[in-house]
This record gives sequence, C-alpha cells and structure tokens, in this order.
Amino acid sequence: MSRFFSEKYSSLVPYTPGEQPKDMKYIKLNTNESPFPPSEKAISAASEAIKILNLYSDPESRMLTEKVAAYYGLDYENVLMTNGSDEILYFAFTAFCDKNTPAVFPDITYGFYPVYSEFLNIPYREIPLKEDFTINVNDYLNANGTVFIANPNAPTGEALFVNDIRRIVEANPDNVVVIDEAYIDFGGESCVPLVKEYDNLLVTQTFSKSRSLAGARLGMGMASKGLIQDLNTVKYSVNPYNVNRMTSAAGYGAMSDDEYTKKNCRYIEECREYTSAKLKELGFEMTDSKANFIFAKHPRADGKEIYLKLKEKGILIRHFDKERICQYNRITVGTKEQMDALINALTGILEELK
Ligand SMILES: *Cc1c(COP(=O)(O)O)cnc(C)c1O
Repeated sequence: MSRFFSEKYSSLVPYTPGEQPKDMKYIKLNTNESPFPPSEKAISAASEAIKILNLYSDPESRMLTEKVAAYYGLDYENVLMTNGSDEILYFAFTAFCDKNTPAVFPDITYGFYPVYSEFLNIPYREIPLKEDFTINVNDYLNANGTVFIANPNAPTGEALFVNDIRRIVEANPDNVVVIDEAYIDFGGESCVPLVKEYDNLLVTQTFSKSRSLAGARLGMGMASKGLIQDLNTVKYSVNPYNVNRMTSAAGYGAMSDDEYTKKNCRYIEECREYTSAKLKELGFEMTDSKANFIFAKHPRADGKEIYLKLKEKGILIRHFDKERICQYNRITVGTKEQMDALINALTGILEELK
C-alpha cells in the first residue's frame, strides 16, 4: 500500500478472481467459462465494430437492448446492459442499499456481494444456508434489507423455483430483491417473466457463461422501469459508455444465434450429469447443481489436497478456504474430453491417498 491510498479503503479485502497461471497449459475448470468459442455471428459482428472504434459506443447499446427486451418479452425501458453482470450488481448495491437498508444474502454465495458491501460501506447480513446448502425461503421473507440471491447459487449450484422467488418478492414489497441468474441457462427456471408483475424485482444475467463471452464483459439487468431508471442514474454518474462497441456487437450476434447457445447449454447439462455419475462412482458427494459446475467433496480426501494435486497434474479447479466449504471444490463442466481427463486424474489421486 502506498502512503497515498485513501484511509477509508486501507482495510479492504478485494475479490479474488480465479487464478490464471501461465507456467504451463492447464485444463481450466476454475472460472466457469464456456469451453466453446463465441458464436460465429458474435465474432463477425465484433470484427465489424472494430472498424469504427474511433467513435464512442452508443451509451444505451440501443440495438442490443432492443434485442434483449424482445427476447424476454419486455419493454426497452425494462433492460439495462452493463460491463459484465458484476457491474449491474455494483450499480444495484449502490442504488438500493445504504446504512439504513442493509444487503441481505446467504453465507455461502457469490464472493462479490460482501466485497461490494464493504467497498460501499453498506452493512450486510449473511443468512446461513441449510445444512444441505439449500436456501431456506422463509429466512428471506420480510428481510428488512435489499436481498441478493444467486439462482442457481454459487458455488453450490442449488436452484430455487420461480414460485419460491415469487414468495420472497411478495414478502418484501418495500425492498428490492435482486436475483442473480448468472447460471440460469443450465437447467434453472428463470424469473425474468416476474419483472412485469413486481416493481421491486431486479434480475441480472451475464453473457460470460452460457453465451461464451466472458472476455467481452457483458451483463444485463431486467427490472421495472423505475428500478432501471435508478440504475441508469448510477451508471450515468460513473461510466456512461460502460459497454464498448465490440462487446455490444458481439452480444447482439450472440442473441441472434440462440440455437447455438441452447445447443451448448444442453451439452454442458448432459456432461454435468455424466461427470456427476462418474464422480459418484469414485465416492464423491455433491450438491444438486443446476449450473455449469459441480460442487463436490470426498469423504476420504481433503478438499485443498485434491485441488493442489489436480493442479500438479495440470487441471485447475476452484477451492475456497472458507470454513464451511473448505472440504469442497467447485469444478467447471467443460467438454467430455476435459471431464474424462479430470476423472482419470482423480482416480489416480484417490489411489495415491489410499
Ligand atoms: C460469473 C458470475 C457473475 C458475473 O459475471 P460477469 O462475468 O461479471 O458477467 C455474477 N454472479 C455470479 C453468481 C457469477 O458466478
């Protein structure tokens, strides 16, 4: 830390992104990226956009916003595009939380929620997941704060039904409920249709996982016109050109190639079930994931040890030191070939540990 760093940030513990080591070529199963390249339509649209990078991007990403609104049957004013969904979440913490309106979220969830709360000096309440890592819906009725729920949750992959979310939204009429649907396309049930019914629901999604555009940084929020207006007030106070031309074009291309997205998601779902069955044969226990990752532990092997031994063998998965989940690892579902390599490596590791 330099002597110039603002005192109010001196004790901040920033978010730790998944590691991207360059010492060798790894099978990367640690950041929930898609193993598939972007859609051809995304690639060609972005390539065209590069040619006019001398001009600022459209601050509204109008074409893309219209496309997304039409896709979900919403109005233009219900949608806001952002620089990754991390940005819409940041806008939401900024717009809808303060010292009298704490953030409320599970104890085990996306690591950015507590980081944003600390950064913005917002009080927050962490509600423990049940023993089996599912959310107890009753804990979120009358939450007395802004609720943030990742659905499916990360890193557990456990999903709520739309009716559970409806109950939470209805039981918090004077607070905003944010549903982070980063992983919704891998078998969960989206609550975007509820946006037309409730003025206090914000649904966020990303192009990083199901749409193969993690490096483009594109996310979005869908909500009542009032909430989107508030989020726009924050956006235009921070970064009006938040989505660059190439990314906006790539997003439009991806939305125009929904068949490709759907096909890839079905592949990942099948591969998740295939891998889960194999892991079970090896004695692993796992949550019921509806996401593009598996959350697993082994009764005879330490979580961190598995992670380290896999890394030695050139396979990266995500381990969290957090006490409640330190025996677990989060494994991104990749191609069947990658999963077979994983299963082989794990078989060897378990042999060694015997
Ligand atoms: C990956 C992820 C995001 C953010 O993704 P972006 O790349 O910023 O769009 C948000 N929430 C959860 C739960 C995630 O796992």
